[in-house]
Amino acid sequence: MTADRPQVRTIYDNVEAQFDKAADLMRLDPSIRKILATTTNEIVVHFPVKMDDGRVEMFTGYRVQHNNVLGPFKGGLRYHPAVDIDEVRALATWMTWKSAIADIPFGGAKGGIQCDPSKYSRSELERLTRRFAFALGSNIGPEYDIPAPDVNTNAQTMAWILDTYLSMMSPQERNRCVHVVTGKPVEAGGSLGRDKATGQGVVYCIEQWAKDRRFDLSKATYFVQGFGNVGSWTAKLLKPLGATLVAAEDHTGAIANAAGIDPEALSTHVAARGGVAGFPGAKAVDHKTFMATQADIFVPAALESQITKGTAPLLNVRLVAEGANGPTDLDGDRILTEKKIDLVPDVLCNSGGVIVSYFEWLQNKRSESWDLEEVDAKLERRILGGYERVKAAASEFDTDWRTAAYVVALRRLHTVYTRRGIFP
Ligand code: NAD
Repeated sequence: MTADRPQVRTIYDNVEAQFDKAADLMRLDPSIRKILATTTNEIVVHFPVKMDDGRVEMFTGYRVQHNNVLGPFKGGLRYHPAVDIDEVRALATWMTWKSAIADIPFGGAKGGIQCDPSKYSRSELERLTRRFAFALGSNIGPEYDIPAPDVNTNAQTMAWILDTYLSMMSPQERNRCVHVVTGKPVEAGGSLGRDKATGQGVVYCIEQWAKDRRFDLSKATYFVQGFGNVGSWTAKLLKPLGATLVAAEDHTGAIANAAGIDPEALSTHVAARGGVAGFPGAKAVDHKTFMATQADIFVPAALESQITKGTAPLLNVRLVAEGANGPTDLDGDRILTEKKIDLVPDVLCNSGGVIVSYFEWLQNKRSESWDLEEVDAKLERRILGGYERVKAAASEFDTDWRTAAYVVALRRLHTVYTRRGIFP
């Protein structure tokens, strides 16, 4: 699609192959196909940040805006050493499909800074974030491109971006622009339920899958990769349904206990110790043993390309519910299908975050504040609407759920382009 991509298989190649499979199957109009196969804007900024010891370090930040035909560009910001233009392109493109499947008026974008945030103090992270927001300038905006949290960023990061963005505006404009970011702290214009929204959406999908399969969740076992925002909330919200967490993994290692791990106690441990390693209620296991955990459900909620040719054969589950973006590569998908493991794909399964971001954006625009019950009920209705559309497309095209999810997204985008036409 874009000329400067390397020849090796990258995450964006995965997106391209997933897209091509669905576009071929549904015979997507070649003109629309060309448009959607290309990102709209790719912004790369280099900027200096003063460190606590007085040194200056240069950083590289990215914002890729894939498509905005359905509404403003929308997507998270990630701070991680692996952030590069290819990864951000892939994540931006997935955001376009996600909003289209959830039927919300947003396009797709993503961004981030290539850095290891664990190396920096809180005040260094604040300056890094503010300087990045300043460098992005008018490339973001409440009706144009709206960032949100992702890996290693959170409500605090959003509050710093909000404050920096508003500081660059005239005082008369400021209160009209609070929706420039979502995932803010509730006290600074955030929505109730946004912190748990992605995990809550994953759990709504798992509950619907269990109903469809007449599977009793109260006897289910599950394991989770990544115990950050998405992984920990998914684990905590599955607990009241009676399901048992039997293993968890993050960047510090993997732990397992077939008799059960308490997600609340594990969250407390992670908050205090920085990771799951050393949790007293479980034994340490290696990565292979973790991936081979005998359980009903696996929730990848960390990084991309975790279910691959090497690891998919190890999986011993009935369902993979993708909390992370892009956790399964092309070989992984093929092997899951061969093993008849059900899949709720990322662009559907983790859309709870962008759905409640949309609710936050609406509340800010209307100066409203919805209670948690209202947010949860609206989230459930909307994500399960997407679930039913994907299920119907899988049956109509006799295809896997990932391809079906793409078909749902591409159909919606195709309709809009057909109605609006191409300028001039
Ligand atoms: P987070 O920073 O809160 O947590 C990330 C987790 O991944 C941490 O527990 C970290 O230890 C773990 N991790 C990092 N490297 C790992 C490794 N090599 N092996 C195992 N674990 C590793 O991030 P998050 O917001 O929970 O995001 C997790 C995934 O969910 C990402 O793919 C993100 O794009 C996706 N997602 C997040 C949201 C959201 O609202 N935050 C919404 C949709 C999708």
